[in-house]
Amino acid sequence: MAEVTPMMKQYLETKKDYQDCILFYRLGDFYEMFYEDALTASRELEITLTGKSCGQEERAPMCGIPYHAVEGYLNKLIQKGYKVAICEQVEDPKLAKGIVKREVVRIVTPGTNMDIQAMDAGKNNYLMSIAYFQGKSGISVADVTTGDYYLTEVEDNRKLLDEINKYVPSEIICNDAFLVSGVNIDDLKGRLGIICNTLDSHYYDEDRCKKCMMKHFHVSTLKGMGVEDFPSGLIAAGALMQYLYDTQKNDLSHFTHLYPYLTSRYMLLDSATRRNLELTETLREKQKRGSLLWVLDKTKTAMGARCMRQYVEQPLIDKASIEKRLDTVEALSKKPMLRDEIREYLNPVYDLERLLGKVSFKTANPRDLIAFGNSLKMLPHIKTILNDFETGLLPEIGQDIDPLTDICNLIDSAIIEEPPISIREGDIIKEGFDENVDTLRHAKTEGKNWLAQLEEEDRNRTGIKNLKIKYNKVFGYYFEVTNSYQNLVPADYIRKQTLASAERYTNQRLKELEDTILNAEDKLTAMEYDLFCRVRDTIAGEILRIQKTAKAIAMLDVYASFSFVAERNHYVRPTINEKGVIQIRAGRHPVVEQMTDGDMFIANDTFLDNHKNCVAVITGPNMAGKSTYMRQTALIVLMAQIGCFVPADSANIGIVDRIFTRVGASDDLASGQSTFMVEMNEVANILRNATKDSLLVLDEIGRGTSTFDGLSIAWAVIEHISNKKLLGAKTLFATHYHELTELEGKMNNVTNYCIAVKEKGDDIVFLRKIIKGGADRSYGIQVAKLAGVPDMVIDRAKEIARQLSDNDILEKVQSITVDQKESRHKPVKYDEVDLSQMSLFDTVKDEDVIKELKEIDISTLTPLDALNTLYKLQNKL
Ligand code: ADP
Repeated sequence: MAEVTPMMKQYLETKKDYQDCILFYRLGDFYEMFYEDALTASRELEITLTGKSCGQEERAPMCGIPYHAVEGYLNKLIQKGYKVAICEQVEDPKLAKGIVKREVVRIVTPGTNMDIQAMDAGKNNYLMSIAYFQGKSGISVADVTTGDYYLTEVEDNRKLLDEINKYVPSEIICNDAFLVSGVNIDDLKGRLGIICNTLDSHYYDEDRCKKCMMKHFHVSTLKGMGVEDFPSGLIAAGALMQYLYDTQKNDLSHFTHLYPYLTSRYMLLDSATRRNLELTETLREKQKRGSLLWVLDKTKTAMGARCMRQYVEQPLIDKASIEKRLDTVEALSKKPMLRDEIREYLNPVYDLERLLGKVSFKTANPRDLIAFGNSLKMLPHIKTILNDFETGLLPEIGQDIDPLTDICNLIDSAIIEEPPISIREGDIIKEGFDENVDTLRHAKTEGKNWLAQLEEEDRNRTGIKNLKIKYNKVFGYYFEVTNSYQNLVPADYIRKQTLASAERYTNQRLKELEDTILNAEDKLTAMEYDLFCRVRDTIAGEILRIQKTAKAIAMLDVYASFSFVAERNHYVRPTINEKGVIQIRAGRHPVVEQMTDGDMFIANDTFLDNHKNCVAVITGPNMAGKSTYMRQTALIVLMAQIGCFVPADSANIGIVDRIFTRVGASDDLASGQSTFMVEMNEVANILRNATKDSLLVLDEIGRGTSTFDGLSIAWAVIEHISNKKLLGAKTLFATHYHELTELEGKMNNVTNYCIAVKEKGDDIVFLRKIIKGGADRSYGIQVAKLAGVPDMVIDRAKEIARQLSDNDILEKVQSITVDQKESRHKPVKYDEVDLSQMSLFDTVKDEDVIKELKEIDISTLTPLDALNTLYKLQNKL
C-alpha cells in the first residue's frame, strides 16, 4: 500500500487515541473530519461530504466546518450523544518546520460541555459517575460549568434510579459492572436522553481515585473531607474527577468542594411520582409551563433558578430544617418592601457560578468581567438590607455574602466600560490602570497624527489630490493612488500591489512610520492581553469567596421568590408535625388554580392520619375532580417539605418520607409494556417500598383489566395498605368501582369520600367539593353526554345499563368478609344528601351561600349579574 501523506499520518496517529470520539482536526480556518468521522458528521450535521487526496489510491472521505462557527455544530453532535475531540494547531504555522504540530486540547461530551450559551441558564448540566459494586452503588454528580460536586451511596437499584431521576444528568460514566446491574440503559437514553459511557477499569481503581482527589484538593489525606463513610461514592467521585481532567485538559480550580450527602436526608420520589406530580415539567408537553416549578420559580438570577429547581427536586424530611426554611420565608414576607428591594437588586446579578467556571477555564472575556463587576456592585446593597433581618437563614446568608469590593474595584479600574469580546485585539484596559499601556496608546494616537501629516504633505508635494494612506493586515500601511493620477507618482514611491483601479505604494518614510506604529500597536495589544489575563487570574484566586457569595445569593433569591409567590397567590405558612397527621383546610391545587380563571377554583379539605383516616377511598364520576384533589394534597405536602408556603387557608402537615403516585400510565406505552403491566409494576413498587410514613396517591388501580379482576386487585390493595400490621400508610385512593365503598364498613381505618355532583334531571353539574360518603353510581353516561357523545348512543347506553344492573356484583361484594369489624356502611344517595352534613370540616355549608348572599353589593349589580349570581348560588345547593 502506498504511503499516506505526512498530514494524514499525523491525523491517523492522533485519531488512534480517540477512537470513541469524532475528531475535529484543525486545518487553517477549518476543522476537518476524515473517514468514518466524516461520514457520521456529514450525515448528522447535514454538511457536504468531499474527499481529500491522502497519498492512497482512493481519496479520504472528508467534511469540514469553519472554526468560527464551531460551537453550533459541536453542540448539535453533543446533543445527539457524540463525543468530540478537538485537535488544534499548537505551534505557529509560520515557525513550523515541516508539518505543524497538533494536539487534542479538549474533549467535549454531553456532560462536560462548557458552552453555556447553548444551555438553559436555570438548569444544571450534570455529569454522573456510577461505581457499581454488587448491588450497591457509589454515585458522584458534578456540573463542570459551576463546580458543583456531590457524592453519595445507595444500597439498591431502585434508589439508584431515584437519584438518576432526580438529577437527570446529560451523561453517565460508569464501571463495567453497571452494565450488568439490571438498570435499563436503553430506557435512560430513550426516556431521559441520558448518554451512558463505560470507562476503562483504571478510572475506577480505588488507589488512583484517591490519589487524584488528593492531588486536586491539595491534601495529603482525605480524612476531614467527610467522605470516610462513602467508600464507593469516593471511587465514583475519583473516576469523575479523572474523567474531567482527561477531557477538559484544563484547570478545574472552581471545583473547590466535594459535598457528601445521605439520600435519607431527602424525601424519596420515584420517577413515576416526579412525572405524575409534574414537579419540573408537564407530563405531556414536557415543558416547564404548567409544572410546580413554573408556579414557584420567580427567581431573578440564573443561580437562584438552578437552586430553586434543586429544592423542588429534593424536599426535606427533617422538621428543624423545614422550619428554618419556613422561618426564612416568613421573615421576608413580614417585610415585603425590603424583600422587593432585594429582588430589585438581584435583577441585574449575572451568573457568578458559571462565570467562575469560565474564569477557571480561562475563557471569560472582557465583557464577562464587566457583567461580573456590575453584578458585584449590587452585593453591598443586598448585604445592608439583610442587616434588618434576624430570623431564619437570613443572618447566615447575610454573613456569607462577601461584598467583594476589592474585585469590583479591580474590574472597575482595569477594564473599559464597553470592551470588545475578543481579548487579542486590544481596547480592553482602562486609561490610568497601567503606565506602559498609556504610553504606548499615546504613541499609537500620535502615530495616527503622523500618518495624517504625511498624507497631507505628500498630497501637496505630488499634486495627487485623492492620495490616501490606508492599512490592511496583509500589506500594512500603503499610499493608494487611483489610475488617473499614476503620472504624478514620485520617484521615491515603491510599488507594493496593483488593483484594477489603483496602485498601492510605500516609501522610506512610510516604512519607518509603519514600524514605529505597528510595533507600538503589537506591543500594546500584547500588553493589554497580559494585563487582562492577570486581572482574570486575580479573580480566579478568589474563587472560594465568590463561590460562597454566589451560593448565598442563590438561596436568597429562592426564599425571596417563595415569599413573593406566597403573597401573590395567597399561600399560608404550614405547621409541621411529626405525628403523621395531614390536615388541610380549603386547600387548592397550586398549578390548576393558576390555570383557572379568577376565583373559579373550588378549595377542598383533606384529613389523613395513620389511624381512622388512613385510607380515603374517593369515588365520583370521571371529570369530577378526583385526580386534581389527590395531586393537590400531594403537592401541598411536598411544598411544605420544600419549605415554602402552601395554597390553603391553613395546613398542618405531618412529614412524609416518600410520596408514591399511581396515575394513568399512557405515557409509558412507548416502552413496549402493556398499560396493565406498567400499572401493576408501579403497584408492586409501592407495596414493597412504602412505609407507614409514606403518602400514597392511587388513581384508578385495576382499570387495565376485567371488572372482576380489577375490583378484586383494588380491594386487596386497600386491605393491605390500610392494615397497620402490614403497611398502614396514608393513602388517597380514587376509584370508579363504587363497590369499594363497602370497605369502609369492613375496615377500621378506611373512610369514604366522594366528589359532589348535582343531578339536574338527566344531567349532572360538577360541584368539585369533596364530601364524606361514597358515591352510589358512576354517572358515566352523563359524563359521556357532557363530552358530546351523540344522543343516539347515549340513549342506547342507558337502555343497556338498565339491563345490566350490577346488583349481583354488589351482593357478592357485600358478602366478602374482612377480618375487622361489622359493616356500618350505607351508600350515599346524591339526591338524599343533606348538604349541611356532608363536608369534611363543615366547609361546604349553606352558610357559605348565605355568606356570599350577604356580601353581594346589590346597589351595583346589573340585572344580568344578578341572574348569573343566582344561577351560581343555586348550583351550590
Ligand atoms: P377526575 O380525576 O375525577 O376525572 P380531574 O381531577 O381530572 O377529574 O378534573 C377534571 C377537570 O375539572 C380538571 O381539568 C380541572 O380543571 C377541573 N377541576 C378539578 N378540580 C377542580 C376544582 N377544585 N375547582 C375547579 N376546577 C376543578
